[in-house]
Amino acid sequence: MSSLDLNTSVQYLKGVGPRRAELLIQRGIEDVGDLLTYAPFRYEDRIHFSSVRDLRVGQPQSILVTVLSCGLSRTRRRGMFIYDLAARDASGLIRCKWFNGAYLEQRKVFKQGMRVIFYGKPEPDPYGYRNLQFLNPQFEILPEESQKEGDGFSSSEMGRIVPVYEAIGQLNTRHLRRLIASALATVDLKDVDPLPHSIGKRLGFPGRATALSQFHFPDSSAGIETLNSFRTRAQQRMIFEEFFLLEVGLALKRRRARKQPGICFQTNESIRAAIKKILPFHPTGAQKRVLREIVDDMRSPSPMNRLLQGDVGSGKTIVALQSMIIAICNGYQTVLMAPTEILSVQHYLYAKRIFAPIGVRIALLTSALKRKERTEVQEALRTGELDLVVGTHAVLEKDIEFKNLGLIVIDEQHRFGVMQRLQLKRKGLYPDTVVMTATPIPRTLALTLYGDLDFSVINEMPPHRQPIETRWVKEEDRGKVIRFVRQQVSEGSQVYVVCPLIEESEASDLKAAVAMYEDLSVRVFPDFKVGLLHGRLSNHEKDDVMAQMAAGALHILVSTTVIEVGVDVPNATLMMVEHAERFGLAQLHQLRGRIGRGQKKSYCFLMTSEIVSDEAQRRLKCLEQTRDGFKIAELDLEIRGPGEFFGTKQSGLPLFRFGNLIRDQDLLELAKREASAFVERPPTDPEFVSVVQYLRAHWSRRFGLLHVG
Ligand code: ADP
Ligand code: MG
Repeated sequence: MSSLDLNTSVQYLKGVGPRRAELLIQRGIEDVGDLLTYAPFRYEDRIHFSSVRDLRVGQPQSILVTVLSCGLSRTRRRGMFIYDLAARDASGLIRCKWFNGAYLEQRKVFKQGMRVIFYGKPEPDPYGYRNLQFLNPQFEILPEESQKEGDGFSSSEMGRIVPVYEAIGQLNTRHLRRLIASALATVDLKDVDPLPHSIGKRLGFPGRATALSQFHFPDSSAGIETLNSFRTRAQQRMIFEEFFLLEVGLALKRRRARKQPGICFQTNESIRAAIKKILPFHPTGAQKRVLREIVDDMRSPSPMNRLLQGDVGSGKTIVALQSMIIAICNGYQTVLMAPTEILSVQHYLYAKRIFAPIGVRIALLTSALKRKERTEVQEALRTGELDLVVGTHAVLEKDIEFKNLGLIVIDEQHRFGVMQRLQLKRKGLYPDTVVMTATPIPRTLALTLYGDLDFSVINEMPPHRQPIETRWVKEEDRGKVIRFVRQQVSEGSQVYVVCPLIEESEASDLKAAVAMYEDLSVRVFPDFKVGLLHGRLSNHEKDDVMAQMAAGALHILVSTTVIEVGVDVPNATLMMVEHAERFGLAQLHQLRGRIGRGQKKSYCFLMTSEIVSDEAQRRLKCLEQTRDGFKIAELDLEIRGPGEFFGTKQSGLPLFRFGNLIRDQDLLELAKREASAFVERPPTDPEFVSVVQYLRAHWSRRFGLLHVG
């Protein structure tokens, strides 16, 4: 095979036919370069296997064994299928079990006499005296040619430390290992290195060719523990390279943004007076500090791009409204965009109330508006008769134009994509932007996720907040909770009852909420006013229900998770979350943020059935113990990992091949420092030029990030 290089399409690799090429391409692996950045997630020591006799309970280990018997059985109690396998090595017997393992039987994965490597954490076997078992272990069946004991093994599989890759469809770790080994053997890597030589050398990193091949196929001298914590020099170098390129890209973006011409807003005595005048309470120290940061940005000549982070209930909205006064008094228009209808309406009403003393012209724009009303708002925005429009995605539509948009505020930013931020910006001429989020993001992650934004944090709650007492309650104690709720409502409190998120469909969510509503209104609390809120109501009906709740006309509001973001009814001090075990941590924290907003002590009851998984128990206990959004976020991140934590790809989290944002925080910090120094180099510096060229060519594919200016 001749002249393979990093840009060769994967389909020309030996062993890749059209079907496999398809699989790879779907995963974003188009050429050999991509394939070589498909990193293993762990390594296995196949020089020293554990012997079955030496296995220790709870410690992850791999063993090489021969299958004695295997087959499907059915459990007595729950009628579940269990796939059961017995195997041995020279030292003893071991059992492996797979719950719901019917597929192993159907596909005839194992046969008697096969040699297999199992990897897992052994547990005591409940039936076998002194024996251990693996539950759902990972496995690798040895290829035909090394099936006989004592035979020579193929060199990428055995007698060395081997990489383990996440399967891609039908392509298992062994297929991938062979592909990567053959690519490494045929491709010339010598000339390709995006990491500036001077930096790599100063930090003592090996060259790229060595680092890349060691990342995949480390020398036997590399310790397995060091490898599995991704701490060898070769691994660190690849991780650093990835972080460094990302950070340089972000630094360049920030620098470019700063050079854009922006609006220089002026402030004066009367503006300052107006800002004070609208405040219905004393701002917290944190609110004052953040407002000052925003005002400084607004007065400066470059466009503001600021992330305002503050836990649920910390009072972000008022700060946003205060900054709007500056824009409006300077003759500019402003927009406040929120992710849901309910939240937009609520912001609209709040803004109207707050701005009443100074006469700001405000309109609401959502998809619920009648055609005629919409046309009126559209016209008023275009001619400049409106100072502020509050709305949902509807404000993004093409035909919504502003006369002179000066300040954009986006609430609950994580619900929107980067593209939408950009779309809104294009409606003005370099307007200032504040995006707000209640998702507490650990700092290093935030640096990456929002690398092109400046940061403000409201890290203090408004005074006189009453604590929220949170209790995890099992079904058998429902009666007690109901009695407590009844008593509290008689004393004037209002209640949210949140119904579960059911995976299958929106329709079943609805059914659960409707059933709950009927039960509560007819049977449990016939003497109270009970309301129902869900996504299928028309916008008008939703507003109506929320308005009733806000006015105190409802005692109890049964709802799906549509109340998750931003809803603010201070007199609602009780919340029951049904099937709380089905919700994620962050979501429960957001939901709970709907109470504890007034002067009265609040109570949150997390209702669950009797049996709850270990992981759900961890979540529920965490919520019982803390209300600190950061602590909750950290646990959430730990449980779910960054990908899930931030939700969709839309969130703008870069896709890392080598690095892991939690494991490699130190390298990320280092990369950031190196990158800030690097971008100060003169634009003619050859290393600088080549990094910029590299980023131009690879930025969006490598990091999944958009080029946003
Ligand atoms: P979030 O940051 O979750 O969006 P909000 O802006 O909705 O929080 O504020 C939550 C509640 O706290 C609102 O009712 C708001 O009026 C009130 N609030 C905000 N700041 C203060 C303050 N400094 N003192 C008293 N109440 C405040
Ligand atoms: Mg809010």
